[in-house]
Order: sequence, then structure tokens, then C-alpha cells
Amino acid sequence: MLLQSERGTWRSKATVGGLRHRSAATTNVTAKNATKVNAISPPSVQSGRSESSSSTGSETNSDDEVGSIDQCQKQASIAKSSCSNDSVSLTETRDIATMKPSIKIDTQKDIARDTAIIYEFGGPLGVTFLMIGFPVLMSYLFICLGSHAGYLKNPFEMGFWSEGLRTIYPTWRAIKIYLGFNMFQYVTAATLPGVKVLGLPVPSLGGKQLEYLCNGVATWYVDLVLIFVLHKSGYFPITSVVDEIGPIMSVAMIWGVIVTLATYIVGVVSGRTHRMSGSILYDIFMGAVLNPRIGNVDLKMWSEIRIPWKLLFFISLSAAVKDHEINVARRLAAGMPPQVWHLFGGVLEMTAIQTTPPLLFMTLAHFLYVNACMKGEECIPTTWDIFYEKWGYMLIFWNFAGVPFSYCYSTLYLLNRSLSNNPIHHSTVYTITLFVILTTAYYVWDTANSQKNRFRMQQRGTYIKRNTFPQLPWGTLRNPTYVQTKHGNKLLTGGWWGIARKIHYTADLVMALSWGLITGFDSFIPYFYVCFFTVVLVHRVGRDHIHCKEKYGVDFEEYCRQVPYIFIPFVF
Ligand code: NDP
Repeated sequence: MLLQSERGTWRSKATVGGLRHRSAATTNVTAKNATKVNAISPPSVQSGRSESSSSTGSETNSDDEVGSIDQCQKQASIAKSSCSNDSVSLTETRDIATMKPSIKIDTQKDIARDTAIIYEFGGPLGVTFLMIGFPVLMSYLFICLGSHAGYLKNPFEMGFWSEGLRTIYPTWRAIKIYLGFNMFQYVTAATLPGVKVLGLPVPSLGGKQLEYLCNGVATWYVDLVLIFVLHKSGYFPITSVVDEIGPIMSVAMIWGVIVTLATYIVGVVSGRTHRMSGSILYDIFMGAVLNPRIGNVDLKMWSEIRIPWKLLFFISLSAAVKDHEINVARRLAAGMPPQVWHLFGGVLEMTAIQTTPPLLFMTLAHFLYVNACMKGEECIPTTWDIFYEKWGYMLIFWNFAGVPFSYCYSTLYLLNRSLSNNPIHHSTVYTITLFVILTTAYYVWDTANSQKNRFRMQQRGTYIKRNTFPQLPWGTLRNPTYVQTKHGNKLLTGGWWGIARKIHYTADLVMALSWGLITGFDSFIPYFYVCFFTVVLVHRVGRDHIHCKEKYGVDFEEYCRQVPYIFIPFVF
């Protein structure tokens, strides 16, 4: 019975806690509402299935099964009661198939893994290089893009930095835009309504599950309405973002460093550090604290979801609007009045969109990405970054500055070409093919992430059925196949997850490649993202393989036997 085995400026040239886990033998269980209780025990003496087994069920496309909000809220209250005593490393979950309450108990392995110090990224020396290297590389690529038409210039050339740095020097306007955006995102995150979900049991908090207010979708719609109003009213034209992009980027980088250091200092002074290596530089990079919060806002999740992706989209939207305005102005200058669209039976009139297709492509690509993060935000609290990673330079700098200002190179390159009156044009077939590739890869990426995350949430009883737009077909699996591990968790082998173990990475990489391909082949810089991202994901695959092998042992080997390919079926 499953119950038993659950254990455990782009300035235009033209215009401008201490661990308190108890030993296996001494842990007491005090969950008030538990229907069945196990004390922590090593994997070998777990009740339930002691051998790895593959459980097969029929897979159907269903979004209306397993678990209503009511059930989940009830479940949440059960889970809360189970962790109210922080000496207990126990949480309630529901059996995915029956939705009967079941129990998962964290293993000592989970706790050991959570506290083990492992040097990654080349240890203290490697991370020091990265901390210096990231801002320098971002500045270099930006200068090449903005001042050298996208060509990679020799950085030791006379005047490269002195000229280039002028285009990214922070301005008061950039500070106001960037910090204003951050503050607004904080206020909406803290106040707007949303669903509440529980994260994974945190070993260093005695198995306590933290609550996350997932109101991303509400904040996203508020953002869109507000930006429309600000733009239309002329109070803040959206094009200000690309007009000021260089200074905003440097403000973001400086802000990333300030927040990193402040978080580190506050963590150390308050004694709330976790998994410290003893090397200051390494700990600054990896972080000192695990779950920093201000009020009800979890800063790590907030900075990962609300800042980078929204900013990235607003950069692309800004570029698309700017491109439209330039093209309308050019038509007028050439004596061609802009075409007007009469929408809703003539009720609404607007100038026909004059944005070039590649920039529309990038705006769509970034819209899809940010929308996915908002509509499925409730799946994020159980991810590795939120559960395990600390809030240090790696996550802080990358989310505040790295993602928005280096994933936007394609957009900036396209805009620069347009501004210099040399816009990128492709054949209709090429453009349509890329739109098809982007949307297909997006579909696979969205549904693959959704299938796994919902499967995992269902196991833990934290699944919440959502109607956020769009809910795609095959986003939720009913009775999928999986490998039951002795650890207690199940490894999904159904849906996309039977095809390749990292199929969602493949889809993400295809999207990243399409962002480059839409810019043509004259500059490498728009391809920086896909190259960098490949390195990141290959590193994550290796890291995750080690993590899962250690956690699931022979069961993971069985899973790899059943799903032998990592990225592409029958190839790799
Ligand atoms: P994954 O989605 O690969 O999650 C890995 C964890 O999921 C494993 O450690 C394991 O956790 C669990 N898991 C793995 N396989 C299975 C399975 N078959 N069944 C059940 N659980 C499984 O992690 P990421 O967080 O790296 O990626 C999430 C998404 O975010 C991806 O689409 C990725 O492309 C994207 N991403 C984007 C980035 C960007 O900058 N654009 C950066 C990083 C990620 P457990 O120990 O709990 O079992």
C-alpha cells in the first residue's frame, strides 16, 4: 500500500538555523491528525515496499482529477499541525492515487545532504573568478552590442572601456526605474491575493514546511495594466526602459552586489547562517541564509520569479514599442501615413503594429516565459533552488542582473539593427518555422515541468488545481508510471518523463536557440544565452545525477534503466 511506502541605455544613436534533527531511534511523532505514524528509520527498515518497483498505471490527459482546493487546504492544515513541533521531522502527504492522508518522513540522508559542505564551481578560487567575471563579461558584451554593432571587439583596444563605460554609467533615472520596479514588486507580492502552498520540509527547521503566498499571476496582471496606463498617459513611456538600458543594467549589478553583502552580513550577525563552509568568499557566493523573509515575502523565491523574468519581458516589450514608433516615424517621413486598424467594429482605433517580426518574436518568447512562471508559481516552492540553495551572490546577482540583462541580447541586437536603419528581415518561411519551433518547444517545456511538479505535489498533498491561463493539454497526468524508491519518493516515468530524463531542459534549450536564430547569423552575442545556458544545464544535469544517485541509490539506477536517455531519445 502506498501509504506504507510513503516515507519517509540602450540609447539609440538615432534618437538617443542550526540543525535539530533527532536520531532515528529517538524521534517522536506528535502530529495531531496523523492517521498513521512512523518514526524515522533508516531506508532499509522502512515499512512498505522495500524493493524498487515500477508501478504502472494508465496515463490519461486530465486536469480535473486528484485533489480540489478544499482538499489541499485541509491537507495544508494537517501538514501545519504536524510541523508545529519543530523537533519532529515529519510531514503529511496524500497518496497520489487515493488521496488518503499518508505520511512522509525525512530520512537522515536528506538531513545529511542538507548540511554537507561540498565545494562546487571550483571552490573559493572558482567562485571569486565568477563573482568578478560576471559583471565584467556582461559589461563587455553590452558595450560590443551597443557601441560596436554586435561585433566582439578586443577589450584591450584603446578607448574600448573608457568610451563604452559611458553608455552604462548609472544615472538617477536608472536608479529610480530599477529600484522603483523592485519596490513595486515587493509591495504587490506582499499584498495581493494568491494561493498559499507549503514548501518541502526544511531539515534545518526540524522538518517545518514554510508557507508561500503565490500571487504571481495577480501581480503580473496588475503590472500589465499599470504599464499600459503609464505608457498611454505619457507618465512613463515603456520605451524609457530601452532608452536607459545601459545605466539600468549597471544599477542592477551594483544592487545585486549590495544585496548579496547585506544578506551575508545580516545572516552572520544574527546567527541565522546555514551550511557555512568557513571560506568567506565561497559563503558569499553560495549564500549564508536559506530562507530570508521580509514580512510574508520569501526573498529568494520573490527575486527568482518576480524580478528577472518580468524585467526581461518589459525590456522586450519596450524594444518592440520603440521599434514600432521608429517605423511609424519613418513611414511618415516617407510620406506614407500609418495604417489604422478599426477594432471591435470601429469602437477602438489603433495604428497598425509596425514592429518587425523578429522583435515580435522576442516579445512573445519572453511573454511566454514570464507568463509560465506566474501561472505555475505554486510549483516553485518545492524546487531545488528554493528548498536547498541559499540566497547568495549566485542567486541574487544572477536574478537581479544576470538573467534580465544577458538573456535580452537578442532583443537589444534586433533593436540596434532597427535603430541603425538596417533591420533584420527573414523570409516568411524562416520566420514562421521559428515561431512554430518556439511554440512547440514551449509546449513541451511547460507541460513537462507541469507534469513533474504536479506529480510531486500530488504525492505530498500540496497539489492545487489552477485555472490560470493557459492550462495546456497533458499538463497533468492521471495515474502515470513511476519508480517507487525506498527513500519514499517516486520517480516519474510517465508522460514526457518516459521519453528523456531532462526533456524539459531540451525544450528550454530549443527555445534559447530560437532566440538566437531569429537574429540571423551576423553576431555571436545573441547566441551567448544558448551557449551559456547549455553550460548551466549540463552542469545541473551532472549535479542532479550525483544528488539523485546518492539519494535514491539502486532505485535511481533502475529509473535510469527505464528512461535511459537524458536529452534526446535514442541519441543522448
Ligand atoms: P529539475 O526539474 O530537473 O529538478 C530536479 C529534481 O527533480 C531532482 O533533484 C529530483 O528531486 C526531481 N526529479 C528529477 N527527475 C524526477 C522524476 N522523473 N520524477 C520525480 N522527480 C524527479 O530542476 P531544475 O530546477 O534544474 O529545472 C526546472 C526548470 O527550470 C527547467 O525547465 C529548466 O530548464 C528551468 N531552468 C531555467 C533556468 C534559466 O536560467 N532559464 C535556470 C535553471 C533552470 P528530488 O530530490 O526531490 O527527488
